[in-house]
Amino acid sequence: MINFNVPPFTGKEMEYMRQAVENQKICGDGEFTARCSQWIEERTKTQKCLLTTSCTHALEMAALLADIREGDEVIMPSYTFVSTADAFVLRGAKAVFVDIRPDTMNIDENLIEAAITEKTKAIAVVHYAGVSCEMNRIMEIAEKYGLVVVEDAAQGMMASYQGRALGTLGDFGCFSFHETKNYSMGEGGALLIQDKKYIEDAEIFREKGTDRSKYFRGQVDKYRWVNFGSSYLPSDMNAAYLYAQLELAEEINETRIRLWNRYYQQLQILEERGKTQLPVIPKGCVHNGHMFYLKAADVEERTALLYFLKENGILAVFHYVPLHSAPAGLRFGRFHGEDRYTTKESERLLRLPLYYRLTEEEVDRIADKVKEFYA
Ligand SMILES: *Cc1c(COP(=O)(O)O)cnc(C)c1O
Repeated sequence: MINFNVPPFTGKEMEYMRQAVENQKICGDGEFTARCSQWIEERTKTQKCLLTTSCTHALEMAALLADIREGDEVIMPSYTFVSTADAFVLRGAKAVFVDIRPDTMNIDENLIEAAITEKTKAIAVVHYAGVSCEMNRIMEIAEKYGLVVVEDAAQGMMASYQGRALGTLGDFGCFSFHETKNYSMGEGGALLIQDKKYIEDAEIFREKGTDRSKYFRGQVDKYRWVNFGSSYLPSDMNAAYLYAQLELAEEINETRIRLWNRYYQQLQILEERGKTQLPVIPKGCVHNGHMFYLKAADVEERTALLYFLKENGILAVFHYVPLHSAPAGLRFGRFHGEDRYTTKESERLLRLPLYYRLTEEEVDRIADKVKEFYA
């Protein structure tokens, strides 16, 4: 049986978690949290990285920092995970969905401007599969209309756009370290902040509305309740698990890209014969091997392929029923313009297993079965 996902594990995790316990600092913002944040700040060249309990929570912090309020509108794709919308809907905003591009499954940058109203406050982009949205165009629009840009870069760690790390291109970037992502701490995430002016508020939102972060740095002699907030900081034990993987980040990234390339080589013949479509990586985008998918002709063919692979001991999956057609999407959102690709393309997409500990032999076996299906 080949699982769809196996959480990343490199070998040092247990030792570092034990160290965290022995440090007698298992709550948030201990030594490993500091090491992870520093590593991410240096690697991505961002002003500030705050480790969080999830990407969902990093997105919630971004919504708080962007001062999203009741009645505001946030433009986003419908083809995404629920958290992209949840974070803003929790603040009382309306999700305004626009169509995706069929090549990358990312928000179509050319449809954003038409969806802007005087209520629009932000654009939330999702870098699907670690492949960047067309950020030059999106930042241009945001600047023109004075909008905040939040990057849901849950899948984007170590990927880049024109040489700049995903998560650092907009105002706020959000990473996920869930067990299904390239780097994990079980549940966890990070908020990346570009403009220093947001850092103090971010620290306060993350620490229950207090200035405890300043207190720990010795900048105030007692900490106080200064604003509303929540608890968005992860345990240092979880950060210790993540740190083991950050130390091997390049190796994990190279392994995933090697496996991704192998899938591509093996399955290219099917694309050439018009049987299937493979992912597209636009010029200027460097991806991180987060996901390998292919597109079947339609939903019936996809169901048959999923079933065929399962019969052969291979667990493939699909995901993201478009948010605008979900019960909460109908309540909290609206689709602007025509749904040309969101529904149609989402029904064709099938994800193949891809994780750090997958082997090239397994990729070959999976690719052979896909070819057998189409033979
Ligand atoms: C995984 C994922 C999330 C949620 O991440 P959590 O860390 O589980 O909260 C949000 N958005 C996208 C696009 C994701 O893939």
